[in-house]
Amino acid sequence: KWRTFVRNNLLTILTVVGVIAGTAVGCTLRTLSKGKWNQRETMYLMFPGEIFLRMLKSLIIPLLMSSIISAVGSLDLSLSKKIAFRSILYYATTTVSAVILGIILVVTIRPGAGGVAASVNELSKDEGLKRKVLTQDTLLDLIRNLFPPNLIQACVQQSQTILIQPKNFSGDADNVTSADLVHWPFKENYENTTNVLGLVVFSIVLGISLGQMGDSGKVLCDFFQTLSEAMMNITSWVIWISPLGVFFLVASKMVETDSFLDQLHRLSFYFATVLLGLVLHGFGTISLIYFIAVRRLPFKVIGQLSQVLATAFGTASSSATMPITIQTLDKMGLDPRITRFVIPVGATINMDGTALYEAVAAIFIAQLRNVEMSFGKTVAVCVTATAASIGAAGIPQAGLVTMVMVLDTVGLPAEEVINILAVDWLLDRFRTTINVMCDCIGARLVDLLSVGELDKITEMDRLNADPQ
Ligand code: ASP
Repeated sequence: KWRTFVRNNLLTILTVVGVIAGTAVGCTLRTLSKGKWNQRETMYLMFPGEIFLRMLKSLIIPLLMSSIISAVGSLDLSLSKKIAFRSILYYATTTVSAVILGIILVVTIRPGAGGVAASVNELSKDEGLKRKVLTQDTLLDLIRNLFPPNLIQACVQQSQTILIQPKNFSGDADNVTSADLVHWPFKENYENTTNVLGLVVFSIVLGISLGQMGDSGKVLCDFFQTLSEAMMNITSWVIWISPLGVFFLVASKMVETDSFLDQLHRLSFYFATVLLGLVLHGFGTISLIYFIAVRRLPFKVIGQLSQVLATAFGTASSSATMPITIQTLDKMGLDPRITRFVIPVGATINMDGTALYEAVAAIFIAQLRNVEMSFGKTVAVCVTATAASIGAAGIPQAGLVTMVMVLDTVGLPAEEVINILAVDWLLDRFRTTINVMCDCIGARLVDLLSVGELDKITEMDRLNADPQ
């Protein structure tokens, strides 16, 4: 019996072992070398993992677009609308409840009370987090990015407003308030990351259009369906490298993190608060929502996701994990028309772990800096943390960048992220795991709720194809 179990789950077991062994080997190498690994040596250690990540990343854009277009295009509009409505309702409910849970925990535990805040000057100039920006600019960027003017450009860049320091500015540029920033000139800038949100919106619209065109749209719909299948076929090859890939990714990260343990001591309450929130959300809140919707618990579903969760932990990227997520859900027997819509969209906008973390981190920093949190500010954190999680790309530590918007609502400058920087890479892995897990549970939920309607459509298609 054991042998059959191991044979059937070999890849999953190897991937989980990859994460554990990567952690152990990385920590040992770090202790043996007394933290003396330089950047180049770490890069060599990461190299096999980097290649694995590049393979997964190369699949993201073609898989994301072809999956959404073929899933939406193959359903009639009223059913697409129902599935989209159920998914969006699930995303919204779970994200907002994650933020609320995070706020309750951070306000009760008060991890930042009595702590010592780091000096913002420690943040090196090239950290890339010094962008001066107003909350409303980030929100407008989010909406702007929903409508990419050029698809090719959307594959490599997204809009990002930046504020320019006025020539006659005489104050301390590191400590400007939002009130000062309103007077700074701004310019439309482009950031070199894929505008996944824009690609998702475009694919949904194209899918709807093809679905409405009937027979003449079918050719293109079939084309995208085949493309999506081809991408999944490639995924089934790449997936065999995942145990080695995650091993090297995790090991190199463990070796690299020099000040981690000293900082973990200082940030232990913050770290524990986020982790507790992620566990309570992932297993408690989500189970409750799942139970209310379909009268059963999702633990069996979670049990089947080990391969996906280990990859999410190893890569720290929802987008890079997406091909493996879709493949696992296919194997679990979910309807591909659901998976190919819910997962790509969910990996882009449904980030419960990130939303929870954004709220906890912003309020934690406010506590460190003794910033008064009024009820109004707390509500603002709730709204901006939700928006920040939607705007965060599914790539490592994207949440740290969108945090700028949440910090601004609390009245703190972007540089304050220095306070949580040292432990962020590890929290990122945990929150990515929860992000991906919640997407998968959402897919299962929408699948269960839509199964009757989908069966009817499949039956009708069968009858149309073969009237006998
Ligand atoms: N790394 C996360 C993800 O890919 C995003 C974040 O919270 O930084 O889901």
